[in-house]
Amino acid sequence: MNGHQEPAHEARSGAYVPPIEDILLTLEVVGLSDLLRLDDFGHLDRDAVGVALHEFGRLASEVIAPTNRLGDRLGATFVPETNGVVTPAALRDAYRHYVNGGWGSLQFPESYGGGGFPAVVGLALQEMFASANMALSLNPVLTQGAIELLLAWGTEAQRSAYLPKMLTGEWTGTMLLTEADAGSDLGGIRTHAERDADGQWRITGSKVFITWGEHDLAPNIVHLVLARAKGGPPGTHGLSLFVVPKFLPDSDGEPRTRNALRCTRLEDKLGIHASPTCAIELEGAIGELVGPEHGGLRAMFTMMNAARLSIGLQGPAVGERAFQEAAAYGAQRLQGHRPNTTASQRSAIVDHPDVKRMLFDMRTRVLASRLLIYMAAAHGDRARHGGDGMVRTAGQALADLCTPIAKAWSTDVGFAVASLGVQVLGGMGFVEESGMAQHLRDARIAMIYEGTNGIQAVDLVTRKLPRDGGRWIRTVLDDIGRATQAPSGASDPLDVSRAVLSEAHGVLGNATGWMLSNLHSHTDDVLAGATSYLELAGITLGGWLMVERAVHAARVGSGDRAISECNFFATETVARATGLLRPITSGAHRLE
Ligand SMILES: Cc1cc2nc3c(=O)[nH]c(=O)nc-3n(C[C@H](O)[C@H](O)[C@H](O)COP(=O)(O)OP(=O)(O)OC[C@H]3O[C@@H](n4cnc5c(N)ncnc54)[C@H](O)[C@@H]3O)c2cc1C
Repeated sequence: MNGHQEPAHEARSGAYVPPIEDILLTLEVVGLSDLLRLDDFGHLDRDAVGVALHEFGRLASEVIAPTNRLGDRLGATFVPETNGVVTPAALRDAYRHYVNGGWGSLQFPESYGGGGFPAVVGLALQEMFASANMALSLNPVLTQGAIELLLAWGTEAQRSAYLPKMLTGEWTGTMLLTEADAGSDLGGIRTHAERDADGQWRITGSKVFITWGEHDLAPNIVHLVLARAKGGPPGTHGLSLFVVPKFLPDSDGEPRTRNALRCTRLEDKLGIHASPTCAIELEGAIGELVGPEHGGLRAMFTMMNAARLSIGLQGPAVGERAFQEAAAYGAQRLQGHRPNTTASQRSAIVDHPDVKRMLFDMRTRVLASRLLIYMAAAHGDRARHGGDGMVRTAGQALADLCTPIAKAWSTDVGFAVASLGVQVLGGMGFVEESGMAQHLRDARIAMIYEGTNGIQAVDLVTRKLPRDGGRWIRTVLDDIGRATQAPSGASDPLDVSRAVLSEAHGVLGNATGWMLSNLHSHTDDVLAGATSYLELAGITLGGWLMVERAVHAARVGSGDRAISECNFFATETVARATGLLRPITSGAHRLE
């Protein structure tokens, strides 16, 4: 990786067409029209959403997408003399366009200079950004998570010091959680905070794996740091959260004084090469407490939950791009011939049923995982903006329940889809020249960071399922149950889908009952089945949302394609749900 050689021809390869119609349909399925009727969104309508998607889609395809392969090839470069990080000029330029367009602020309150859109619309922009360049998109993802955190927990002074510049993207944000001995288990954090003689918090410690922890895209970086305030209890209860900027803003708000922290190394890694993954040394850096002392993890969860959906979204985002490239390749690559034709009549590989199956599989898994992520985000919008307390409570509980499923299942899907993309291209998929290998490498990290998919499964079965005695998973099961019923009257083109969904629904109901009744008496058995349970939940919720999508599409006159996609997804993917009951319930003794 050399930050100084930028072959111009690479910047043109790997076209990306923003799937605006698919995204708009997804938004409708998860309730955009209802959201736009809420008081907080009274200034918006569907046209405003459509314009935002089209405009940003143009930026994503014309400016950001051409930087993807170049960023992979050149990566970010650490400069030891300055502890700085240099990114390729094309990425800096793409990021400048993003900032100048004001895109980072779309879903934030108008009082801080935002557009006041629902978060689910902001997520749609994030999807296109991640399809265009996943590594670069991580920078705004973290900035936006940090904004959410400061909105929820920051003081008014902290908000006015940081939010206006972070909303525009002029300053960027990070999260500093991980340390050498503290990954999934943040109770191991050793970074500590002490007040100095002036009463200021001073933070000291070593953080690793910090995404965009140092870079040259912005003049200031706002770090949100988990540290152990002196006198706090051990474990996660002793953690406090601090805002620690790279440059401390002066009284006029300008960042002039360098804070005592520095990047000491970049990781050399499998994918997302353009995203610098930094080791950061804090050497008595000045920070301000955010939220209550020793209550830092709760505050940090605001950012982590926002980021979990954004990371989950990287599954369908990279999957979409892999699908587009595989479909284009399949249409022009000639190999073999169809039955009943002569050997001289070579067919495009897309005409072979097995290749067609792979492409359908890629497309439908992308559609289903997109639906799941957007649904979780729309629940979050209801939690924040819903008309009454009941709506808000239900929105929050359903967002909490769906987030681990959406994060883990969608990122598993993203990697599987990228792998199918490699398969469709054959040998060309495996060599770097085609660009498909990059998608496979990039997609892999999303299953690991922001809480590994294993940790998501544990969170789902131990915390989210049992909340309120299992009330919220039962609410979801009831919704799915309704979708298994065909409307009375005319013949139903979705009858295959509904029949398969009905079986999956039954299995999910049984598996949920088993999980809830064994959680306290046979915890290890439940934990041994957690990942398979999450997969079952992802498949079944995906199948349900595909039915809802087909019903919506039929209403607006574009139903035929959506029906065949739904029926394919049901028979190819949802049908596998029944086989998951045994791995879920077979217990931990198998592991001895
Ligand atoms: C490219 C990259 C970017 C990152 N960006 C950031 C960032 O910006 N900020 C930040 O703070 N961190 C960041 N991380 C760190 C990331 O969040 C952690 O790597 C991740 O949470 C896993 O922690 P770990 O690597 O220590 O793995 P470990 O915690 O050691 O886990 C190893 C394995 O054990 C499993 N495991 C661990 N505990 C349990 C348990 N209780 N039950 C079941 N299974 C368990 C895990 O699922 C995993 O399979 C990044 C990491 C990478 C690689």
